[in-house]
Amino acid sequence: MKELQYRTFSLKTHKKNWRIKKPNVCQFELTFKCGLHCRHCYSDCYNKQEYIKGELSTGQVKFLLDKIYNAGVIWLCWTGGDPLTRPDFLEFYSYAKDKGFIITIFTNGCSMTEEIAGYLKKQPPFVIEITLNAVTKETYEEISRVKGSFEKAMDGIKLITQNKLPLKIKTQVIKDNLEELPKIKEFVENLGLSFRPSAFLHARLNGDLRPCSLRISPEEILNLDGNKQPLDNDCQLSLNTEPQKPITENRTPNSRLFPCAIGGGDGIHIDPYGNVIPCNCIRGPKINLFEKSIEEAQKSILNWVRSRRFITDSKCKNCSIRDLCYNCPGKALLETGSLEEPVEWFCELAKKTVKLANC
Ligand code: SF4
Ligand code: SF4
Ligand code: SF4
Repeated sequence: MKELQYRTFSLKTHKKNWRIKKPNVCQFELTFKCGLHCRHCYSDCYNKQEYIKGELSTGQVKFLLDKIYNAGVIWLCWTGGDPLTRPDFLEFYSYAKDKGFIITIFTNGCSMTEEIAGYLKKQPPFVIEITLNAVTKETYEEISRVKGSFEKAMDGIKLITQNKLPLKIKTQVIKDNLEELPKIKEFVENLGLSFRPSAFLHARLNGDLRPCSLRISPEEILNLDGNKQPLDNDCQLSLNTEPQKPITENRTPNSRLFPCAIGGGDGIHIDPYGNVIPCNCIRGPKINLFEKSIEEAQKSILNWVRSRRFITDSKCKNCSIRDLCYNCPGKALLETGSLEEPVEWFCELAKKTVKLANC
């Protein structure tokens, strides 16, 4: 398929679904299970048997695939945890392929096997996105906290490249791998891929703040890869390159809480128990898809998101540089317990970004 044709199709479909408020993208968390326990991971607190045992069965995953297919979803992103740790992965992968979904798989690569890679070669996904946080055993396992995981990740990448599967690699930058970034970049570029660092960390889903202490400094972020351009955001938070005009008496402050695409209506997020939730950071309200239709679930979530306004005097509400800030209600909720609170580290980054833009 020519890229231009695909991009035109994708853009047209997204625009149409945005207009008619029907989902065409589904972020589906298949499991919290993962073979690694990364120091910065926001979901590792649920990577425990007590949480995994209640996750969806194969039949339930297929039931939900039918449901999202009938609702008009085209793009399916399987995430986790690590979806490849599910022993039934190939069963519902083949089910989803037969339905015609365009599938993205997020994984760390450690659970890639010859069997999975061989199958994917015959029925390729749209892309496999691997997170690779180091290219030396010492740093990799310092971050992953699992002995022997470096070799497994490298073997996984080898299987993907040998089978010529579509691959993207991203890197989560934390204090521990900052010095290793040039080596990771070289490794990734030698595979013919683009180096894609991301430096945004947030607290764990249970409010554990330890990942936040691994953040690099705002100055280090702005100099990442020698690139002083605005940064990519994992959540497609739309950011302007210019700060807003300062709030004045003549200007009505925007009290809308969500600055991101979450209320757009063309995407849904499903957790490992079959609930539709607002996004990966905001786990409630949750609407169970075994009790409600996609349309009902989507409507409830959208009503909740769109009706949110600042109800406190948070300084984010009237902040003149909010358009340049990567804080958001989801990250704020996990770190401060409130959707509205500023997060000092993001404040500092936003101020430094403005300063840089004005240099
Ligand atoms: S590989 Fe991803 S899901 Fe697994 S522990 Fe690391 S950050 Fe979490
Ligand atoms: S976190 Fe700070 S910079 Fe960001 S919107 Fe809130 S007050 Fe503004
Ligand atoms: S609230 Fe934050 S985490 Fe949730 S979708 Fe918006 S930008 Fe992403």
